[in-house]
Amino acid sequence: MITLEQVEKTYASGEGPVQALGGVSFALGEGECWGIVGPSGAGKSTLLRLMALLEEPTRGRVVLDGVCFAQSSPREKRRARQQIATVFQDCRLLSRRTVAQNAALPLQMQRLPRQEIARRVEESLWQAGIAHKAGAYPAQLSGGQRQRAAIARALAQKPRLLLCDEPTSALDPQSAGEILELLRQINEGGVTMAVI
Ligand code: ADP
Repeated sequence: MITLEQVEKTYASGEGPVQALGGVSFALGEGECWGIVGPSGAGKSTLLRLMALLEEPTRGRVVLDGVCFAQSSPREKRRARQQIATVFQDCRLLSRRTVAQNAALPLQMQRLPRQEIARRVEESLWQAGIAHKAGAYPAQLSGGQRQRAAIARALAQKPRLLLCDEPTSALDPQSAGEILELLRQINEGGVTMAVI
Protein backbone atom coordinates (compact mmCIF):
# COMPACT_ATOMS: atom_id res chain seq x y z
CA MET A 1 0.00 0.00 0.00
CA ILE A 2 2.76 2.41 0.96
CA THR A 3 6.38 2.03 -0.06
CA LEU A 4 9.43 3.99 1.01
CA GLU A 5 12.34 3.84 -1.41
CA GLN A 6 15.78 4.90 -0.18
CA VAL A 7 14.22 7.69 1.85
CA GLU A 8 16.49 10.27 3.45
CA LYS A 9 15.44 13.23 5.57
CA THR A 10 17.80 15.97 6.64
CA TYR A 11 16.75 18.98 8.71
CA ALA A 12 18.57 22.29 8.93
CA SER A 13 19.47 23.34 12.48
CA GLY A 14 21.60 25.98 14.20
CA GLU A 15 24.45 23.46 14.49
CA GLY A 16 24.26 22.44 10.83
CA PRO A 17 22.25 19.76 9.04
CA VAL A 18 20.75 16.90 11.07
CA GLN A 19 20.15 13.65 9.27
CA ALA A 20 16.99 12.15 10.81
CA LEU A 21 16.70 9.29 8.30
CA GLY A 22 19.34 7.82 6.02
CA GLY A 23 18.31 5.45 3.26
CA VAL A 24 15.16 3.79 4.65
CA SER A 25 13.32 1.35 2.37
CA PHE A 26 10.30 -0.83 3.11
CA ALA A 27 6.87 -1.74 1.83
CA LEU A 28 3.81 -1.84 4.07
CA GLY A 29 1.21 -4.09 2.44
CA GLU A 30 -2.58 -3.69 2.55
CA GLY A 31 -3.92 -4.95 5.89
CA GLU A 32 -0.51 -5.36 7.50
CA CYS A 33 0.48 -3.97 10.90
CA TRP A 34 4.09 -3.00 11.46
CA GLY A 35 5.82 -1.96 14.66
CA ILE A 36 8.56 0.66 14.43
CA VAL A 37 11.07 0.26 17.25
CA GLY A 38 14.14 2.31 18.11
CA PRO A 39 15.76 4.59 20.71
CA SER A 40 14.82 8.24 21.15
CA GLY A 41 16.15 10.32 18.26
CA ALA A 42 16.33 7.33 15.88
CA GLY A 43 13.93 9.04 13.46
CA LYS A 44 10.70 7.16 14.23
CA SER A 45 8.42 10.23 14.33
CA THR A 46 10.08 11.60 11.21
CA LEU A 47 9.35 8.30 9.46
CA LEU A 48 5.71 8.51 10.52
CA ARG A 49 5.35 12.11 9.28
CA LEU A 50 6.72 11.03 5.90
CA MET A 51 4.27 8.11 5.81
CA ALA A 52 1.44 10.50 6.75
CA LEU A 53 2.48 12.56 3.70
CA LEU A 54 2.85 15.64 5.92
CA GLU A 55 6.51 16.07 4.96
CA GLU A 56 8.47 15.13 1.88
CA PRO A 57 11.83 13.35 1.94
CA THR A 58 15.09 15.14 1.13
CA ARG A 59 15.95 12.17 -1.12
CA GLY A 60 14.12 9.03 -2.19
CA ARG A 61 10.43 8.40 -2.81
CA VAL A 62 7.27 7.79 -0.82
CA VAL A 63 4.84 5.83 -3.00
CA LEU A 64 1.15 5.35 -2.09
CA ASP A 65 -0.77 2.79 -4.17
CA GLY A 66 1.88 2.97 -6.88
CA VAL A 67 1.83 6.77 -7.14
CA CYS A 68 4.87 8.83 -6.09
CA PHE A 69 3.54 11.41 -3.64
CA ALA A 70 5.99 14.17 -4.61
CA GLN A 71 4.87 13.99 -8.24
CA SER A 72 1.13 14.22 -7.44
CA SER A 73 -0.97 17.31 -8.09
CA PRO A 74 -2.15 19.37 -5.07
CA ARG A 75 -5.60 17.80 -5.44
CA GLU A 76 -4.19 14.26 -5.55
CA LYS A 77 -2.07 15.08 -2.51
CA ARG A 78 -5.15 16.22 -0.58
CA ARG A 79 -6.98 13.02 -1.54
CA ALA A 80 -4.01 10.86 -0.58
CA ARG A 81 -3.69 12.54 2.83
CA GLN A 82 -7.39 11.97 3.53
CA GLN A 83 -6.77 8.21 3.46
CA ILE A 84 -4.34 8.44 6.34
CA ALA A 85 -5.01 9.23 10.01
CA THR A 86 -2.56 9.57 12.88
CA VAL A 87 -2.94 8.97 16.60
CA PHE A 88 -0.41 10.66 18.89
CA GLN A 89 0.86 9.94 22.40
CA ASP A 90 -0.69 13.15 23.75
CA CYS A 91 -4.11 12.68 22.07
CA ARG A 92 -4.26 16.29 20.79
CA LEU A 93 -7.95 16.75 21.58
CA LEU A 94 -9.39 20.26 21.72
CA SER A 95 -10.26 21.00 25.35
CA ARG A 96 -13.32 23.15 24.58
CA ARG A 97 -14.92 20.51 22.38
CA THR A 98 -16.67 17.36 23.52
CA VAL A 99 -15.54 13.89 22.46
CA ALA A 100 -18.13 13.84 19.66
CA GLN A 101 -17.25 17.39 18.54
CA ASN A 102 -13.55 16.48 18.45
CA ALA A 103 -14.30 13.45 16.28
CA ALA A 104 -16.45 15.57 13.96
CA LEU A 105 -13.84 18.30 13.40
CA PRO A 106 -11.73 16.70 10.62
CA LEU A 107 -14.93 15.76 8.79
CA GLN A 108 -16.25 19.32 9.07
CA MET A 109 -12.97 20.53 7.61
CA GLN A 110 -13.55 18.16 4.69
CA ARG A 111 -17.01 19.77 4.32
CA LEU A 112 -18.87 16.47 4.48
CA PRO A 113 -22.68 16.65 4.80
CA ARG A 114 -23.96 16.99 8.38
CA GLN A 115 -25.82 13.69 8.41
CA GLU A 116 -22.80 11.83 7.12
CA ILE A 117 -20.68 13.43 9.86
CA ALA A 118 -23.20 12.49 12.57
CA ARG A 119 -23.38 8.90 11.30
CA ARG A 120 -19.61 8.48 11.08
CA VAL A 121 -18.99 10.02 14.51
CA GLU A 122 -21.58 7.79 16.19
CA GLU A 123 -20.14 4.69 14.52
CA SER A 124 -16.52 5.51 15.36
CA LEU A 125 -17.31 6.33 19.01
CA TRP A 126 -18.93 2.90 19.37
CA GLN A 127 -16.04 1.20 17.63
CA ALA A 128 -13.51 2.89 19.93
CA GLY A 129 -15.58 2.08 23.05
CA ILE A 130 -16.14 5.71 24.03
CA ALA A 131 -19.76 6.27 22.93
CA HIS A 132 -20.87 6.62 26.57
CA LYS A 133 -18.66 9.73 26.86
CA ALA A 134 -19.75 11.42 23.62
CA GLY A 135 -20.81 14.59 25.47
CA ALA A 136 -17.84 14.76 27.85
CA TYR A 137 -14.92 17.18 27.57
CA PRO A 138 -11.33 15.86 27.48
CA ALA A 139 -10.61 17.08 31.04
CA GLN A 140 -13.44 14.84 32.28
CA LEU A 141 -11.83 11.69 30.86
CA SER A 142 -9.13 9.27 32.02
CA GLY A 143 -5.96 8.91 29.94
CA GLY A 144 -7.25 5.72 28.34
CA GLN A 145 -10.60 7.32 27.53
CA ARG A 146 -8.85 10.33 25.97
CA GLN A 147 -6.84 8.00 23.75
CA ARG A 148 -10.05 6.18 22.78
CA ALA A 149 -11.55 9.55 21.81
CA ALA A 150 -8.48 10.30 19.67
CA ILE A 151 -8.77 6.87 18.04
CA ALA A 152 -12.49 7.52 17.39
CA ARG A 153 -11.58 10.82 15.71
CA ALA A 154 -9.11 8.93 13.51
CA LEU A 155 -11.62 6.18 12.67
CA ALA A 156 -14.32 8.71 11.74
CA GLN A 157 -12.06 9.69 8.84
CA LYS A 158 -12.37 6.08 7.57
CA PRO A 159 -8.62 5.83 7.04
CA ARG A 160 -7.05 3.04 4.99
CA LEU A 161 -3.80 3.66 6.84
CA LEU A 162 -3.65 4.39 10.57
CA LEU A 163 -0.36 5.65 12.00
CA CYS A 164 0.19 5.57 15.76
CA ASP A 165 3.02 7.55 17.38
CA GLU A 166 3.59 5.91 20.79
CA PRO A 167 -0.16 5.72 21.49
CA THR A 168 0.23 4.03 24.88
CA SER A 169 3.37 5.54 26.38
CA ALA A 170 1.46 8.05 28.54
CA LEU A 171 -0.89 5.35 29.90
CA ASP A 172 -0.88 2.96 32.86
CA PRO A 173 -0.19 -0.69 31.96
CA GLN A 174 -3.85 -1.77 32.03
CA SER A 175 -5.09 1.08 29.82
CA ALA A 176 -2.10 0.54 27.52
CA GLY A 177 -3.07 -3.12 27.12
CA GLU A 178 -6.67 -2.17 26.34
CA ILE A 179 -5.64 0.40 23.75
CA LEU A 180 -3.27 -2.08 22.05
CA GLU A 181 -6.11 -4.62 21.96
CA LEU A 182 -8.39 -1.99 20.36
CA LEU A 183 -5.71 -1.23 17.75
CA ARG A 184 -5.36 -4.96 17.04
CA GLN A 185 -9.12 -5.19 16.41
CA ILE A 186 -9.02 -2.17 14.09
CA ASN A 187 -6.19 -3.81 12.11
CA GLU A 188 -8.16 -7.07 11.93
CA GLY A 189 -11.02 -4.99 10.52
CA GLY A 190 -8.81 -4.29 7.51
CA VAL A 191 -7.06 -1.01 8.36
CA THR A 192 -3.35 -1.04 7.48
CA MET A 193 -1.30 0.17 10.43
CA ALA A 194 2.12 1.27 11.62
CA VAL A 195 2.73 1.71 15.35
CA ILE A 196 5.78 3.25 17.02
P1 ADP B 1 12.32 9.70 17.37
O1 ADP B 1 10.87 9.84 17.05
O2 ADP B 1 12.87 8.34 17.02
O3 ADP B 1 12.66 10.09 18.79
P2 ADP B 1 12.64 12.00 15.60
O4 ADP B 1 12.12 11.55 14.29
O5 ADP B 1 11.75 12.84 16.45
O6 ADP B 1 13.15 10.71 16.43
O7 ADP B 1 13.99 12.80 15.38
C1 ADP B 1 15.12 12.26 14.67
C2 ADP B 1 16.23 13.31 14.62
O8 ADP B 1 15.83 14.38 13.78
C3 ADP B 1 16.57 13.92 15.95
O9 ADP B 1 17.97 14.15 15.97
C4 ADP B 1 15.80 15.21 15.97
O10 ADP B 1 16.43 16.16 16.77
C5 ADP B 1 15.83 15.61 14.49
N1 ADP B 1 14.63 16.38 14.08
C6 ADP B 1 13.37 15.91 14.02
N2 ADP B 1 12.52 16.85 13.56
C7 ADP B 1 13.29 17.97 13.33
C8 ADP B 1 13.01 19.30 12.85
N3 ADP B 1 11.77 19.67 12.51
N4 ADP B 1 14.05 20.15 12.76
C9 ADP B 1 15.31 19.79 13.08
N5 ADP B 1 15.64 18.55 13.54
C10 ADP B 1 14.64 17.65 13.66
